[in-house]
Amino acid sequence: MSSFLNKQSDGKVMVDKVFKAAIKAKEAKEIFGSDNVVDATLGTLFDEDGVFVAFDSVWGPYESINKIQKAKYAGSIQGNPSFRDAVTKWLFEDVTEELHFEILATPGGAGAISSTMKNILNPGESVIKPSQGWGPYKTMATEFDIKLQDYNMFKDGHFDVEDFKKTLQNVMNQQGKILAIINDPCHNPTGYTMSGQEWDEVIEFVNELSKQGPVVLLNDIAYVDYNNQGNEWKKHFGKFSKLSNNAMAVIAFSTSKTLTAYGARAGAAVAITNNATELSKFINAGIYSARSIWSTVNNSAMELFALVTTDELLLKNYMKEKQYYVDLLKERADIFVGESHEVGLDIYPFVEGFFVTIKVQDNIEKEALNLKLQKNNIFTVEVDGGLRIAICSVSREKLKGLAKRIKDIMN
Ligand code: PLP
Repeated sequence: MSSFLNKQSDGKVMVDKVFKAAIKAKEAKEIFGSDNVVDATLGTLFDEDGVFVAFDSVWGPYESINKIQKAKYAGSIQGNPSFRDAVTKWLFEDVTEELHFEILATPGGAGAISSTMKNILNPGESVIKPSQGWGPYKTMATEFDIKLQDYNMFKDGHFDVEDFKKTLQNVMNQQGKILAIINDPCHNPTGYTMSGQEWDEVIEFVNELSKQGPVVLLNDIAYVDYNNQGNEWKKHFGKFSKLSNNAMAVIAFSTSKTLTAYGARAGAAVAITNNATELSKFINAGIYSARSIWSTVNNSAMELFALVTTDELLLKNYMKEKQYYVDLLKERADIFVGESHEVGLDIYPFVEGFFVTIKVQDNIEKEALNLKLQKNNIFTVEVDGGLRIAICSVSREKLKGLAKRIKDIMN
């Protein structure tokens, strides 16, 4: 009998490794008590008492948004003008270069990434992603019948610019066009942040390569507001003004981590290019995709972002509360990364952010180690080339000695 589903969807099953691991951790906590379990699975902030963090400086002001705003549809399919203005200020306030850009509001960073894949590539073409990367990149590509090609993330403790170039050149030779994802700063799952020089090399190469065909760089900045340089890092966006006429950057912005508003589903695709015709086509296609897939973005989430980031006092409170967690993440990282180096636990190059990843290249070894850790009530997430420790959700107390415990279990 033939399937009810079409060929593309028949047999698809979503297996989310993060949620799967989190369920195992939850079961262990119910049996052994949460004090005896290290749950390093979830990529959301938890405080030192293991309580989910929902910023007071965000969810307090939410109560002041009137019910009609909360109930209403968004003011525009492209996203409320007040939201787009707030995103512009949030990202580009300190950028001195002139940028030509358009903003499409999306349901989180996920909406920005998937709609970009859909509108840039034809089915059968390849999107380029880092060798260690966020799992849903694969899911999204598969959804649109797009293939994946990896560039190697690291060489000698730094971004492997040479492999990035080689991969882009190969794909350009095959399909005459490039869509490449760079998740920076605070890369998920390794916590790497590229240097200014690494970015300069990327931009220079993109301009050179764009002589052979269009190049679109997708800069996934889901964790941008947790980098240690603060807003200073965002000056980086000025580099996109230098892109040639045959290149474009799309920033995938998300309020999920920025506001601790993961479930509110607001974000944006911010396209930057000096090519006015292509910019206009990209934004129009994005608005079309929006209307046909998610329709409009959550009105109250857009209002909330605009409110918190433009009211002087609310912004001050928010920045203070967020900084506490940026500092806390740094302290947690100092413990785990410092101890990993001391005991010789092999981790990927780490700079900052929500995650650290233990290097285990072999898949069988990785699964075996993960099972052993689970038996010892340590729960991590299997990612390409390793096991991810979400330091965003583990207290300093539980991180102390964890690297040695893992190293001992490995041996
Ligand atoms: N990109 C990365 C690397 C992420 O880790 C996430 C969330 O976990 C996202 C994008 C997008 O998240 P959301 O769709 O909630 O904004």
